Amino acid sequence: MDDDALEYHRTDPPGKIEIATTKPTNTQRDLSLAYSPGVAAPCREIDADAGEAYQYTTKGNLVGVVSNGSAVLGLGDIGAQASKPVMEGKGVLFKRFADIDVFDIELDLDDTDAFVESVAAMEPTFGGINLEDIAAPACFEIEERLRERLSIPVFHDDQHGTAIISGAALLNAVEISGKDLADIEVAFAGAGAAAVATAEFYVSLGVRREHITMCDIDGLLTTERAESGDLDEYSRQFARDLPEGDLADAMRGADVFVGLSAGGIVSQEMVRSMADDPIIFAMANPDPEIGYEEAKAARDDTVIMATGRSDYPNQVNNVLGFPFIFRGALDVRATEINEEMKVAAATALADLARQDVPDSVVKAYGDQPLQFGPNYIIPKPLDARVLFEVAPAVARAAIDSGAARVERDIDEYVERLEA
Ligand code: NAP
Ligand code: MG
Repeated sequence: MDDDALEYHRTDPPGKIEIATTKPTNTQRDLSLAYSPGVAAPCREIDADAGEAYQYTTKGNLVGVVSNGSAVLGLGDIGAQASKPVMEGKGVLFKRFADIDVFDIELDLDDTDAFVESVAAMEPTFGGINLEDIAAPACFEIEERLRERLSIPVFHDDQHGTAIISGAALLNAVEISGKDLADIEVAFAGAGAAAVATAEFYVSLGVRREHITMCDIDGLLTTERAESGDLDEYSRQFARDLPEGDLADAMRGADVFVGLSAGGIVSQEMVRSMADDPIIFAMANPDPEIGYEEAKAARDDTVIMATGRSDYPNQVNNVLGFPFIFRGALDVRATEINEEMKVAAATALADLARQDVPDSVVKAYGDQPLQFGPNYIIPKPLDARVLFEVAPAVARAAIDSGAARVERDIDEYVERLEA
């Protein structure tokens, strides 16, 4: 795999993206329209009304994928330069799944203030900013400050992508197991970027905050630890008034386990201690907190299992989210990606998984049966319908929540996407 990947990236031209022009450039006249003197006309229009940038430039289809390389997928703090293949790869996915163009921006900056200033200064270039692979807890403050300051969407995918996709899985898992969002007890392994955002999102979906128990590497997040200053201000929101304990204590009797921590830390014994028909989202990459087969084999009742892996059912894959969420946001020139838009995305994904799957999609996944049930609670990334469902749902939620700069007819928008 490594050799193939190196070859893939090295083949001339190096990397995997390039800039292409979209207007004629054959004649002297074409060039004088594209650049001087003709280009002055759109500049004047935008000078008079900044919103015209969406009309005359690529802004409305251009996302900045911005990282400092401080928490790169499984590789850790490898820095800005080494993170560039990942950010270029993110650009490939934006293009492949939603025809969105990306400039990948790797910033050699560890200082939060400097990072925020740098990204803020780029606002004129982009229709949206996808923050990527930035370590917790700095990622929370960076996103929060940029969201406040910019009037384009700012979205840290490692936080919210995971939250939204696994949130869709949760909506369907509780439906199948006959549980109620307002009643379920949820145990989290991990209190980092993905876990905190996912827990906050589950609260938005209807899980009760006081039903969430969270663990980091040192054990349960308790009020005592919060008061002793042991927890950052984001994970502290999930500290509970409980005695000192560990993950095994958190999982005992829980309806749902959410792992966003490290591989192999959950035993079959811990799975057996959970409530009836447990829901297990073991999403540490590349190795889940407990393997699919091991978790299923631990009990006789129905275990609904999701992981981050493509070789088992129910892969929680962020590519089900960010391309389509940004598509919908850009297409109404949204000022932000707010909670309503995220909930709309999760709900649209959950609804789609309940519909019949076209043969073409079943074939693309090696003819395994794909039918709503414990082994199919979220759609597959290569299902073209994800675009037609999620982008309009996000656009509609943006309009309804006041985040859209332009209104559009959603039925007509769906037709345009399908064309
Ligand atoms: P992060 O910010 O570094 O957070 C990791 C968290 O896990 C920290 O709170 C850490 O605790 C905790 N942890 C580590 N080892 C633990 C252990 N043995 N027991 C309990 N908690 C432990 O990382 P992240 O970005 O949130 O990602 C976390 C994991 O989720 C990674 O494996 C990542 O690949 C995976 N992930 C998967 C998806 C997906 O499937 N779509 C998406 C995002 C992330 P301390 O703070 O005490 O060290
Ligand atoms: Mg990432």
